[in-house]
Amino acid sequence: MNPIYAAMPTTVFEAMSARARAAGAINLGQGFPDGNGPDAVRAAAARALDHRSNQYPPMAGIPELRQAVADFYRDTQQLDLDPGEVIVTSGATEALAAALLALIAPGDEVLMYQPLYDAYLPLVRRAGGVARLVRLTPPDWRIDPAALAAAAGPRTRLLLLNNPLNPSGSMLGTDALAAIARFCVERDVVAICDEVWEQVVFDGAVHVPLMALPGMRDRTVKIGSAGKMFALTGWKVGWMCAAPPIASVLAKAHQFLTFTTPPNLQYAVAEGLATQRDWISAQSAAFERSRDRLAGGLNAIGLATVPSAATYFLSVDLERSGIAIDDVAFCDWIIDHAGVAAIPISAFYSEDPVRHLVRFCFAKVDATLDEAVARLGRAVPALKATAG
Ligand code: PMP
Repeated sequence: MNPIYAAMPTTVFEAMSARARAAGAINLGQGFPDGNGPDAVRAAAARALDHRSNQYPPMAGIPELRQAVADFYRDTQQLDLDPGEVIVTSGATEALAAALLALIAPGDEVLMYQPLYDAYLPLVRRAGGVARLVRLTPPDWRIDPAALAAAAGPRTRLLLLNNPLNPSGSMLGTDALAAIARFCVERDVVAICDEVWEQVVFDGAVHVPLMALPGMRDRTVKIGSAGKMFALTGWKVGWMCAAPPIASVLAKAHQFLTFTTPPNLQYAVAEGLATQRDWISAQSAAFERSRDRLAGGLNAIGLATVPSAATYFLSVDLERSGIAIDDVAFCDWIIDHAGVAAIPISAFYSEDPVRHLVRFCFAKVDATLDEAVARLGRAVPALKATAG
């Protein structure tokens, strides 16, 4: 057995979801939305399943989807991608694995920010990379260019970045992206930028792709996910975009991971990217209302929240809420005593964790959010009385 996997505990998402099921708790832990995505996209998938080929599609994706991704990013992010620079994958998860396997040579150092999306560290290590971690902290999760430079070593070849960032719900501004771009250019570092949350952004913000920054066009792998864009997280259709010399190596890694992705889902996503842009905007406005509903409800029962600019998540700050136990203990307690499941933010750190934040998913119908708040409102005063 490979020790990286053999020694790995079950992910906190699975563990919390299992406990939520067993306890009959409302699951605001794992990040999947209520709802079933755009009708037109599901109908297109059903049509393609019945009327188009179900045999191996082209390895890098059907031409219609590669073109649709390039068109979408041209119109929404002013990127000038050729469809040949887009490789379709089975979700962003496969894109991450393919990119890391393709670009890491044994012993290469990979810079990453904590909090870390849970797949990053095992994938980097399994690919033979050496992680170099830079710690971000609430409430602003600000990037310090000096910390990045200090973490880099002589063998730093890659930076793996997630923007907008899960679990914090924060987004990097243009100044921070410019500092990262300068660093990558000066140190000749390639960036893998996981931008799966690019369309789930709030308050009128516009996502800026790292690839658009000076010097980054030919040294960035941009990763996207249809599951996030259409709120269809089970679909597992994603892509990676990169200049031809990088894309050709990425394609070789993808070739022996999954080779292809179900063709009917590819046709449906291509159609959705062309025709469902209003749906995507309306959905993000709906998530913004859900964020405000959950934040308002939590604040009203004395749970202080950290601002969330993107993603399906917001965090409660236990310290500012007057709760004296840590995030893991709080999540354990609210499952048992309130019947609500959430995720401790410390689970996203590999070292020196932040222990006073708890992540809640707000991509749920109003009634579910309201019931979760009501349950917490009944239970939490007892916790504050005993632990405070
Ligand atoms: N990266 C990040 C930061 C994510 O939050 C997620 C999904 N939660 C993924 C990648 C995985 O995306 P997909 O479902 O398309 O594989």
